[in-house]
Amino acid sequence: MKLSRFGEQFGQRTGIVSLMDDLGTALSENPDMIFMGGGNPGRIPEVEAFFAERLQSVLNDPAQRHTLLGVYQSPQGDREFRRELAKLLRRQHGWAISERNIAVSNGSQSAFFVLFNLLAGNMPDGGQRSIHLPVAPEYIGYADAGLTRGFFTASRPEIELLEGDLFKYHVDMNALQMDDSMGALCVSRPTNPTGNVLTDEEIAHLDSVARAADIPLIIDGAYGQPFPGIVFTGAAPHWNENTVLLLSLSKLGLPGARTGIIVASEPLIEAYTNANTIVSLACGTLGPALAKTMLSNDDILTISERHIRPFYEHRAAQTVDWLRQDLAGLPFRIHKPEGAIFLWLWLQDLPITSKELYQRLKARGVLVVPGEEFFIGMDDEWDHQHQCLRISYGADADSVRAGVKLIAEEAKLAYEQA
Ligand code: PLP
Repeated sequence: MKLSRFGEQFGQRTGIVSLMDDLGTALSENPDMIFMGGGNPGRIPEVEAFFAERLQSVLNDPAQRHTLLGVYQSPQGDREFRRELAKLLRRQHGWAISERNIAVSNGSQSAFFVLFNLLAGNMPDGGQRSIHLPVAPEYIGYADAGLTRGFFTASRPEIELLEGDLFKYHVDMNALQMDDSMGALCVSRPTNPTGNVLTDEEIAHLDSVARAADIPLIIDGAYGQPFPGIVFTGAAPHWNENTVLLLSLSKLGLPGARTGIIVASEPLIEAYTNANTIVSLACGTLGPALAKTMLSNDDILTISERHIRPFYEHRAAQTVDWLRQDLAGLPFRIHKPEGAIFLWLWLQDLPITSKELYQRLKARGVLVVPGEEFFIGMDDEWDHQHQCLRISYGADADSVRAGVKLIAEEAKLAYEQA
């Protein structure tokens, strides 16, 4: 079989695909494996019960059941859902938007693929543009999502060493040199993998440099505001006509519903919708059916505030404590946990690469993600890239506790054997 260039690029097991495969295989080979590698949301009984009840009430109503299962939704997504969401965003944040500024996607991952390639790659004037990541490390799912080579560029962050054993990445404003080779800036806020939440000042700065360069600022709010609201700092939500905000119902507890949401200027939403028609024909109905009624009465915010954020905030603090106990004596730092569902552990001057440590941990029965994978668009020159691990803390507390113990044991061995 002869594959096209597209086929070669997307049909092969490169980068993220091999890693995801490896995580999946490891899990099926060892069912007792402690899974601290993936992005599955934690199981929160109140939230599960809430969605189960919603689903049941949709199924009990023949008209709603038919809309859920028996009709194609439009490629821009359920109009009532978009209208209610626009109202919520106007009500809560004062953003001047209507349902025409909103599109639904089959998961935000697929929206990123379309959006990135709408904004970067081969340009009509013969030039090339990149999606620029102002703070590497960034979300592993962006890697390989571009149709052309060199699709992502990235800047090293500044590292602020905080009191005790914490640190925080910042946008290096001086390193961020804008030119017309960039098609958009993109940040996840809170950031996967680090749990960083860019400050309001950093967002304002990125917004102003993006406007000056006449390119959009993409904010990936998969963990952010207004929902699922897994933010432990006082950061303000941000949107204006030059911002593309991506939301998702996944971390609210519905990754199986595959529902992403794009909030952007009308022309970009129109371009996205046209492309989405080609790729997907229609949007899934499950997410909007479950979430629609939660928008008009702000239940979606209440559930985030009362159940989702506290669950992760508590677990983050617990996991930091366990890491501190078990790693005592090693030269480690943890990125200040400000949101999302991960801790980012920096093992300073680690004598082996984090990939090697990942393999050793897998053999011991705990899965994490090696830090190297997240430095998308960077060259290989920065040692720091090989000294970090992403640790998900969404699993049940006993598993996370046992996983931390194994991580610490292997990290100690790595330093001792050097
Ligand atoms: N963005 C970030 C930062 C993520 O962590 C994820 C998934 O883990 C996604 C986007 C994609 O989420 P989904 O396609 O489930 O909406």
